[in-house]
Amino acid sequence: MIRISDSSRCCGCSACVQRCPKQCISLREDAEGFLYPEVDTSHCVNCGLCEQVCPELHPDAERQPLQTFAAINPDAGVRLASSSGGVFTALAEVVIDAGGVVFGAAFDAHWEVCHRYAETREELAAFRGSKYVQSVIGDTFLQAERFLKSGRQVLFSGTPCQIAGLRRFLRRDYDHLLCVDFVCHGVPSPGVFRAYLAEEMTKIARKGEKKYRFAFSTIPSIPKADALAARLGCRIDDIRFRDKTNGWKKYRFALSLSKASAAGEKIQFCALNGFTENAFMQAFLRDLILRPSCYACPAKCFRSGSDLTLGDYWGVEREAPHLDDDGGTSLVFVNSERGQKLLSSLPIAFHSQPFERVHAHNTSISASVSRPINRKFFFMMLRRSGFFRALGATTHPSLPFRLWRKLYRLL
Ligand SMILES: Cc1cc2nc3c(=O)[nH]c(=O)nc-3n(C[C@H](O)[C@H](O)[C@H](O)COP(=O)(O)OP(=O)(O)OC[C@H]3O[C@@H](n4cnc5c(N)ncnc54)[C@H](O)[C@@H]3O)c2cc1C
Ligand code: SF4
Ligand code: SF4
Ligand code: SF4
Repeated sequence: MIRISDSSRCCGCSACVQRCPKQCISLREDAEGFLYPEVDTSHCVNCGLCEQVCPELHPDAERQPLQTFAAINPDAGVRLASSSGGVFTALAEVVIDAGGVVFGAAFDAHWEVCHRYAETREELAAFRGSKYVQSVIGDTFLQAERFLKSGRQVLFSGTPCQIAGLRRFLRRDYDHLLCVDFVCHGVPSPGVFRAYLAEEMTKIARKGEKKYRFAFSTIPSIPKADALAARLGCRIDDIRFRDKTNGWKKYRFALSLSKASAAGEKIQFCALNGFTENAFMQAFLRDLILRPSCYACPAKCFRSGSDLTLGDYWGVEREAPHLDDDGGTSLVFVNSERGQKLLSSLPIAFHSQPFERVHAHNTSISASVSRPINRKFFFMMLRRSGFFRALGATTHPSLPFRLWRKLYRLL
């Protein structure tokens, strides 16, 4: 039976939860806001299936991609709404047009990031764009298995560890399954995102008032974002982690809120700031709020078993300037013949690139980031003083804290 004694050895893929024949594993949010499996031992029959499907216990071997390409989706609207060059949508459309099903990550009604499936081109829009929060897989592996057994083509997209979890969950290969992952820096905590949204929305909605700090005692006790917005008399219209209207390299975080005026008119607010100024993006990019497993990733180096891997072509201005108009350029790594076949059916030009050059600009392909020494301090401060204060104290520490940290490092 699965036992999580070290949180860094569980990527939260939920393969064990969905494979358990007794449905006696559930997911519970921990103090950092991540989901972990918990077994109801009174119903467990010790069949061992949960351990068999766990990608952390059975990591696959490293691979090298067969080919590396740069590409841009010629549909300007799709590309603008996508994080890189919009290749994901082009892949998904081919599968949908052939009567298949596409799985991906989208916001739900509570502004939580969850996996679900799409059967039409219109439904694909919700998957576009990176959401820098770990998505809840739910029972989508079971849904995908049902579609595969009925003979329908399935494209499943997700983080490398989610793809590794899906492949172990299925326990056999299907010719009509296509797995697409992406180069993964790591996933931030959904609970911390809730904490950030709660404070940011309170700040915006109570602008001008002296006291606007939002207080909470534990991460699991923070209300869902839609409920909190309603309490503040407003609603969330949109959240975009990578708004590209100012360019791809200077992307911005956008939180759009609205409320009705006394006369019933809709008043819109938008917190729109560059990724270097947005507090949530700073906590993400400083690696403070990543899942513990992301500091020792079990699925990097193409170990997920995906057919295709997508990524941002950082360094494109030097390596392939003719493909750089600052609108976003995708990297596409071909990992299998199946992936190659799908690419050849796309109405897009693919430009071959040397893997080593591309790798030099995007270390997330193979290396896990280091766990920051002040991560623990950040979470302690978060529980005590809220998101913004925790980030401030961690990134601009006071003199006593700097001394304490020096001592901690020495010891
Ligand atoms: C958490 C995260 C970290 C990333 N880190 C890097 C990195 O370090 N280097 C790099 O080159 N690229 C990284 N990417 C990938 C990159 O940002 C693009 O998503 C990718 O290149 C595909 O871009 P696109 O333009 O083809 O399509 P897009 O429309 O931008 O991509 C949408 C795809 O991403 C999936 N997706 C979005 N959010 C999530 C999520 N939270 N969990 C699972 N799947 C999700 C959707 O289901 C869909 O398949 C990361 C993406 C995410 C979500
Ligand atoms: S050993 Fe079997 S019954 Fe027990 S938790 Fe794991 S999968 Fe479920
Ligand atoms: S890594 Fe996945 S399968 Fe393994 S324990 Fe965690 S959720 Fe379960
Ligand atoms: S860095 Fe690794 S463990 Fe973390 S989300 Fe990405 S694939 Fe999963």
